[in-house]
Amino acid sequence: MVTTRSQDLFTAAQQHIPGGVNSPVRAFRGVGGTPLFFQSAAGSKLIDADGNSYIDYVGSWGPMILGHAHPDVIAAVINQAAHGLSFGAPTELEVQMADKVCALIPSIELVRMVSSGTEATMSALRLARGYTGRDKIIKFEGCYHGHVDALLVKAGSGMLTLGEPSSPGVPAALAELTLTLRYNDLDQVRDTFAKFGDSIAAIIVEPVAGNMNCIPPAPGFLQGLRDICDRYGSVLIFDEVMTGFRVGLNGAQGLYGIKPDLTALGKVIGGGMPVGAFGGRREIMEKISPLGPVYQAGTLSGNPIAMAAGLKTLELISAPDFYSNLTATTTQLTQGLMQAAAAAGIPFTTNQVGAMFGLFFTNASAVTNYAQVMACQQAQFNSFFHAMLAHGVYFAPSAYEAGFVSAAHSAVDIDTTVTAAADVFKQLAHV
Ligand code: PMP
Repeated sequence: MVTTRSQDLFTAAQQHIPGGVNSPVRAFRGVGGTPLFFQSAAGSKLIDADGNSYIDYVGSWGPMILGHAHPDVIAAVINQAAHGLSFGAPTELEVQMADKVCALIPSIELVRMVSSGTEATMSALRLARGYTGRDKIIKFEGCYHGHVDALLVKAGSGMLTLGEPSSPGVPAALAELTLTLRYNDLDQVRDTFAKFGDSIAAIIVEPVAGNMNCIPPAPGFLQGLRDICDRYGSVLIFDEVMTGFRVGLNGAQGLYGIKPDLTALGKVIGGGMPVGAFGGRREIMEKISPLGPVYQAGTLSGNPIAMAAGLKTLELISAPDFYSNLTATTTQLTQGLMQAAAAAGIPFTTNQVGAMFGLFFTNASAVTNYAQVMACQQAQFNSFFHAMLAHGVYFAPSAYEAGFVSAAHSAVDIDTTVTAAADVFKQLAHV
């Protein structure tokens, strides 16, 4: 496969863009090699700058649940763009969006739109602190909540890929307020609350962890967090930026039947436009300006083009059977990959929640925590990644990211992927 145009663009990009990319995981640092530059996408396929086509399991890191360039979403964007790009004043589209979000996610009684997942978690955190009058927060190792200062402590995603436990530039005085515990370890949460419970403003958690590969919550974990927050008067924040409208129409909270106090949303809610949102219990959300004293704002928040793309996406994913079909397609992929690996004698397993999945090169029969993820064969993943790329299949360029299937992935796409993987697993078995 010829990728000279991508290579030339990457060289040019490094002249004026740090590392040649506008977000670190794009740089292929974890897997090595030169990142591909893309020029277009449609359905399940990405086309790179040299014209090569790939079956895409990144989906712009989650938003493209309908597949790329869905004709109805594109039409909604073009139609709205003709009426103006931004007003900095309220629109009817925002009312429709808020109504739809509250209908789909009943724990959300009031919702505020923002422009990224980072803004959503940052604002939710400030609100939780303002509401409780407390400063400490709890997060979990390997969970990533955007590049919010207080949350860049033992975070996942690019922080794991680049091996950075926490970021320089985050003041120690701030990092000290972030207590980082083990995901799926409720005893450690209980012990921590026994010591500091009265000063803990919030627990923030990915209800399915998707930034240290894909780790589902252990049975009882989320309910345990709910109970502890109730007992100590702390705010339970579900970061559903990735899982919202991804693992099911009502998010992970719908899937597991747990009501958080606040929820952060992003990715799918914008249909590929820069959108985030946070919302939750009325009593807490009423503390946000202009109703309350906790300040939060945004020039482009609730942007009409973004709302049009998001609303059309939410409408289409609300179709009957949308999630059962999507989950079935994802299961075909994960089962197919596991069978192909087993046939080649490669130690390998997968995790899956709805249309979100993880690939693990490991002897373990189940991967349930951060330590197990870190113990996987990263070198083998890297070889797998590059060999699949050469077969025209684009998985996330890091062993620590979840993968995504869209409604545009056909049975043929899955078959092609599994056939390619069978070949690649056999190659790996001979290394
Ligand atoms: N929270 C989670 C769970 C995420 O996966 C991400 C992004 N991958 C974010 C927050 C941050 O979102 P954004 O990149 O839009 O700022």
